[in-house]
Amino acid sequence: MGLKVLKFGGSSVADAAQLSKIKAIVEADPERRYVVVSAPGKRHSSDNKVTDMLFMLKAQADEFIPYDSLFETIKGRYTSIVDDLGIDVPDFDARFDEIRENVGKGASKAYIASRGEYLSAIMAAAYLGYDFVDTQDLIKFDSRGRLLFDETNELLSAELAKHERAVLPGFYGSYMNNGEVCVFSRGGSDVTGSLVARAANADIYENWTDVSGMLMADPRIVKDPLPIKKISYVELRELSYMGASVLHEDAVFPARMSDIPINIRNTNAPEDPGTLITNDEKELDDRIISGIAGKPDFTVISIYKNMMNKEIGFVRRALAVIEEAGVSFDHIPTGIDSLSMFIATSELEDKLEDIIEALNMQLRPDEISVENRIGLIAVVGRKMKRSVGAAAKICSVLAQNGINIRMLNQGTNEINVIVGVDADDFERATQVIYEGFVG
Ligand code: ASP
Repeated sequence: MGLKVLKFGGSSVADAAQLSKIKAIVEADPERRYVVVSAPGKRHSSDNKVTDMLFMLKAQADEFIPYDSLFETIKGRYTSIVDDLGIDVPDFDARFDEIRENVGKGASKAYIASRGEYLSAIMAAAYLGYDFVDTQDLIKFDSRGRLLFDETNELLSAELAKHERAVLPGFYGSYMNNGEVCVFSRGGSDVTGSLVARAANADIYENWTDVSGMLMADPRIVKDPLPIKKISYVELRELSYMGASVLHEDAVFPARMSDIPINIRNTNAPEDPGTLITNDEKELDDRIISGIAGKPDFTVISIYKNMMNKEIGFVRRALAVIEEAGVSFDHIPTGIDSLSMFIATSELEDKLEDIIEALNMQLRPDEISVENRIGLIAVVGRKMKRSVGAAAKICSVLAQNGINIRMLNQGTNEINVIVGVDADDFERATQVIYEGFVG
């Protein structure tokens, strides 16, 4: 029998109705044996996520602000689900008492935040009739909070082998040296799901959320973009980097390492096939581009210096300035006597003046210019590799629509072309490129 690992996000465990959808999904396929859950998310747009409330609880406890009523609100999220489902979760009250006591004793922020997933998994396990397997002692981090991949894989595999079917909490594990809870960054249950899939040697990792997979472009910009049915891991990485977020960034690596395909599915529309992320060429479809994503607000610092190309160490010194300012850059296209740095404007905060001063000092350039509000659009597709005409098509649709290209860059892996345009042209450029390829 095959084996599937499923991860359900916060909206899929937000209330009893959502949990009953989970049950139907899990029971529809006996291969769905390991289930990872998030903490309950929002039930409607003005609702609060349990994780956000837990962070608030910690802040209140630290400031000696009474937190009893917030604690009861959080508890109420779970008890209303349990009551509506009409199930009995053994010792559920005692678990809350223990948490309340630990908060009172000054428990860490990570411990408190992790209780959202902990309680969610206990509740879901009782409802599904699966074992509850806590991840605290199975997912391990070093003292700086970096995942210890091999140790985790070993511990998880050994534990999973003891359970035919189990529910595991997402988002957390513990430090190797002291066993205290450590959490991933926000959205980290996706990573837990991927680690469990690898440890269980799963045939597929199903990531259940509230959308039917990825779309070829941002639907706020392009009207009714086509769904992405299949995509490679590398394409996904490129699109996610440029803002098409569907999975936590670190969730791809464990599954990809073991060639486990990831299927993004919709709990509210389980019949939709969603998006399949795989490296299997036979599975992938033939479209030239897989998707378009972009970010509208970059600042470009351009440095000009006569004979720059002959000056050894010029680029290194320019990059050292950026590094010292603690800023990361996205692209550095160069000319013979010029170098431009594309930096997300949000990265710069109030550091721009200091950076310019340091560049002047370090490089003695002829001129430095700064332009704000440049948008970058990534056109991604593995089929662009060695296929003639993709970049030409991008340029020609932009020209036909009177959109000026400020930068054009093809990654050396040839699976993406990045176009820079004025921020005011960003949306229109995305639309015409999409229409150019998809029609
Ligand atoms: N509950 C955590 C968060 O809200 C982790 C997750 O849902 O993946 O970020």
